[in-house]
Amino acid sequence: MSGSENTCGRCAGHNPTWTAPSPLWNEVMRGGDINGQESYGVVCPSCFAALAEESGIAFRWRFYAQDVRAELQLVTPSGRVWDDSTWLFVQGETPWWWRARQRSRHTER
Ligand SMILES: [Zn+2]
Repeated sequence: MSGSENTCGRCAGHNPTWTAPSPLWNEVMRGGDINGQESYGVVCPSCFAALAEESGIAFRWRFYAQDVRAELQLVTPSGRVWDDSTWLFVQGETPWWWRARQRSRHTER
């Protein structure tokens, strides 16, 4: 491990608090050996993805936050609803809680 965990051990850029699945981390960072030596210590998500892709281990990333502190828009103006399982806005029944929230927003103003 080198430097602070807030600094990437590869690019020296900002390293936000993040995690990767341990088996994938071990494959990319420790040469597939759970007890292997980590090449760069703690790296940022961008460097982790680059190392994984350069090694041919993993591609096509998803990025999400475990601690979201804003109210996200989960229904589009046309009524499509965010589906967490597919990571797509899908056509569907507008949820009751969304209709209620929209109504209360209109009456608040
Ligand atoms: Zn980096």
